[in-house]
Amino acid sequence: MSSRNILVINSGSSSIKFALVNEHSEQFLVQGLAERLGSEDAVLEWELDGEKQVDKLPNADHREAFAHLLPLVKKASDGRLTGIGHRVVHGGAHFTKASALTPEVIDVIERAAVLAPLHNPPGLIGIEAAMDLYPDLPQIAVFDTAFHQTMPAHAYRYAVPEELYSEHHVRRYGFHGTSHMYVSRKAAEMTGLPVDDSCWLTAHLGNGCSTTAVVNGESLDTSMGLTPLEGVVMGTRSGDVDPSLHNHLARTLGWDTQKIETVLTKESGLLGLSGLSNDMRTLIEAREKGHERATLAIEVFCYRLAKSLAAMACALPRLDGLIFTGGIGENASLIRSKTLDYLRLFDFKLDEAANQACIRGKSGLISAENHPRVLVIPTNEERQIAIETLASIDANAK
Ligand code: ADP
Repeated sequence: MSSRNILVINSGSSSIKFALVNEHSEQFLVQGLAERLGSEDAVLEWELDGEKQVDKLPNADHREAFAHLLPLVKKASDGRLTGIGHRVVHGGAHFTKASALTPEVIDVIERAAVLAPLHNPPGLIGIEAAMDLYPDLPQIAVFDTAFHQTMPAHAYRYAVPEELYSEHHVRRYGFHGTSHMYVSRKAAEMTGLPVDDSCWLTAHLGNGCSTTAVVNGESLDTSMGLTPLEGVVMGTRSGDVDPSLHNHLARTLGWDTQKIETVLTKESGLLGLSGLSNDMRTLIEAREKGHERATLAIEVFCYRLAKSLAAMACALPRLDGLIFTGGIGENASLIRSKTLDYLRLFDFKLDEAANQACIRGKSGLISAENHPRVLVIPTNEERQIAIETLASIDANAK
């Protein structure tokens, strides 16, 4: 058995998430997180052979964190590392699949930063640090947007003047592509349907949330748009609002665009509605104790999610199944059942025992017999990034 290992990196402004993935295993050889980088409290935490360990790295930056990662990765991979896969949030319309990090590719990622100012620049810091430290290893960028590049124009265009699209790249891109791709392929595997002849609705529900219509292995529509703010209600993001809300807030409250963006991305969603938390676990517990705003937040979340799934169904010729994933989708049986209650016309019906049983990483079918299929499938974005990284390395070797 060949045993190729890929180091998967997800670099944020003050953090680096990493996982060492073997192509033949769903389990990671080592995984961890360097966080609070650039501050006195910077730490590197990792889990190896089931044991959690922490190293303090006061004032370490991304490069120093990588330098500490290296021995861990070497040890866990027995010195056999085939390449590094970097998660990049926005690839613009340029990338339809993972790409080797050449100077030209880095240049395009830099130019796409205008579309993802919070995400692409920290991603590039991680890429630069890793390329500096591992100059001889293949390094591949895997884009959140690439899977959605198969959307037809009628799904990705906004009804705004043509020049905004042709000259300023204003269009819908979609995100969470690696997750939607991973779970739709898993669903095909679990049900015995061919990937290229299967139709899915996918709901990725983590801190960020999005829905996608996947037909024959391709994304045909998705709820996020130009940025990851469009679409369904999320932990702290509003999702869809009336586009005139911005003007209204500027006129009536004197807010500038920065303030409006902060409110809609960091203070809205479940947190804004509940006034309590962006964490679904906390809201479910509060609802059980009769907390009115938590109850409303959950109701709005489920109703908007159902509306989005119904809208996504416009892209499907038939439905082979609805898939829940992400921390909420994988664990919150209440949210799954409430969302389906709002989709009565689709004839969904849950097997409640199966719904309750699918938590903490357990995947399975949760629909009642003779009703449309509903699946819970834990996402594994790191594994999908590793698979795409290896495919890109193999393609480049030919
Ligand atoms: P991220 O997008 O940061 O990767 P996750 O996919 O881990 O986020 O999802 C985080 C969300 O999942 C949080 O809202 C959290 O409350 C929710 N979640 C995790 N476990 C449970 C659970 N047992 N019940 C309900 N919600 C849960």
